[in-house]
Amino acid sequence: MRKFILAANWKMNLTAAEAQDWLTQFNDLVTENSTHEFRLYAPSLFSAELAKSNTIHIGAQNAFPSDFGAFTGEVSIPQLISVGVKSLLIGHSERRSYFHESTEFIKEKVDACCQHAFPFILCCGEDFETREKDEYLSFIRNQLSTAIEQVEKEQLALMVIAYEPIWAIGTGQTATIDQILEVHGYIRSVLIDFFGELGVAVPILYGGSVNSSNAKSIFACPEVNGGLIGGASLNASVFLELASSL
Ligand code: PEP
Repeated sequence: MRKFILAANWKMNLTAAEAQDWLTQFNDLVTENSTHEFRLYAPSLFSAELAKSNTIHIGAQNAFPSDFGAFTGEVSIPQLISVGVKSLLIGHSERRSYFHESTEFIKEKVDACCQHAFPFILCCGEDFETREKDEYLSFIRNQLSTAIEQVEKEQLALMVIAYEPIWAIGTGQTATIDQILEVHGYIRSVLIDFFGELGVAVPILYGGSVNSSNAKSIFACPEVNGGLIGGASLNASVFLELASSL
């Protein structure tokens, strides 16, 4: 049976009380012996409290790639580890565009995760103009090859890739199955170029307006190993409903 990763990205949503309600509902509904891995990328503010429950992998949406220092407003990987956070989301398009995170800065985060043996999901994906110009494959190769340049084969188990076409995030406009098949197959070939046969085992998630109507056909694609879910993850039962498509 294929093992999938279903990752909820709450972004900057929910209050502390709503976050606890979500977790209670998730714990009530989740199938205990599910073979799949569920992850929750919550605002860091709630991480310590959520991690106490130990029923779902809690990840962080952001971290600064230094261990400590004068970086007002930021949190470090050792700080996240100290409260039970288990992984980091890196390179989400919202961080790239609103917070001007360059691919070189994203590489620093990847390297910091590797240094701490801290798992991470590395997001990549093109904007609409790049797709229209038919330059999306080379764009994605550049994003990935810069970010993973220094990842060693021994560190590969830490890494998950998420393909998130920017034009599909939060828009309701999901990529077509053909588009997903093409890009996921291409990302797999980039991973094999870098890491040889070990690249076959790196999970590749799809993200971009996944919902209960399209999840089944997306998760049936051969190189799709799970999903990164924004809007449809804000309600625990809707999020878990997607797992029934796996
Ligand atoms: C995301 O936040 O990464 C995402 C894919 O959002 P949505 O599912 O809402 O498109």
